[in-house]
Amino acid sequence: MRILVTGGAGYIGSHTAVELIQAGYDVVIVDDLSNARREVIDRIQEITGTRPLFYQINCADKKALQAVFAGNRIDAVIHFAGFKAVGESVKKPLQYYRNNLDSTLTLLEVMEEYGCRKFIFSSSATVYGPENPHSYREEMPAIQSSSPYGWTKVMIERILTDYTTAHPDFCAVLLRYFNPIGAHESGLLGDDPNGIPNNLMPYIARVAARQLEKLTIFGGDYPTPDGTCQRDYLHVVDLAVGHLKALEYAMDHKGVEAVNLGTGNGVSVLELVQVFEKVNHIKLNYVIGPRRDGDLPAFWADATKAKALLGWEAKHSIEDMCESAWRFVLHSNVQ
Ligand code: UDP
Repeated sequence: MRILVTGGAGYIGSHTAVELIQAGYDVVIVDDLSNARREVIDRIQEITGTRPLFYQINCADKKALQAVFAGNRIDAVIHFAGFKAVGESVKKPLQYYRNNLDSTLTLLEVMEEYGCRKFIFSSSATVYGPENPHSYREEMPAIQSSSPYGWTKVMIERILTDYTTAHPDFCAVLLRYFNPIGAHESGLLGDDPNGIPNNLMPYIARVAARQLEKLTIFGGDYPTPDGTCQRDYLHVVDLAVGHLKALEYAMDHKGVEAVNLGTGNGVSVLELVQVFEKVNHIKLNYVIGPRRDGDLPAFWADATKAKALLGWEAKHSIEDMCESAWRFVLHSNVQ
């Protein structure tokens, strides 16, 4: 079975490629390397012993994508490729809408041309918007977001739902991720964003490595037990395994399903910082600063549907997430 992984050189895509190869799938990666490095393909090979086929293309490039489908019989697509920085999307909405929507539409057109009917989509908990009470359940309205990035997820979910209505043979699984952190146990793959990180764990890792001076915790006066925001952090390898389960499901089902991938537990920023310090024996330099615009105080997944429908549940602890994230930094710095 041959799986096309778009954005397969990125953080979640690369971990998923590893799990797919180890489960016996043939993996074809397309990635334009706009926010990923070519060496990731070597790392996937180093971990699995198999080199995935790799094409450096953007998914909105129809001719290039057609050539990939013409040259490889693709059985299913896992679509990660897309711009993902929330703050940047507020400043550059047209780029975000153009890139994320165009690439998905082009991909669907090419899949239709080649009769490929299985689609796993990287969606996000952001689609639940600011109004729903947590924990989030899939049947809640998922029709609002707080940034152009988030709106692209809402819109792509809608596109896939409408497409599936028009093509009842199609199967789309919309995986709504909570907060993936951590890294592959080998230390070879992890979250390595270009420039100054926006997300919490890569920021913590750079402060720990003394590449950034201090962490600012955004807000200490939220209505949460310790005043800092709570999120549902999950290990990226658990998330990658969730994609395999979704793929297995899609192979013998039709229609569209939205599924949360989270642990079901809320952890505060301060708790995460403290666990990181404890398991890695590092003192982190941090201050509590003002709130960040657009942050919600607290949310986490209701993860019961993932277990019932896909037979998936998160296995790794917060300690594993913090340890592996740091191992990746140490490994990267000795390379
Ligand atoms: N956060 C923080 N300092 C940072 C980055 C993030 O305090 O430098 C907090 C942020 O306010 C949120 C949590 O960490 O409560 C997770 O933020 P992230 O950007 O990683 O993910 P989000 O939940 O916004 O998608």
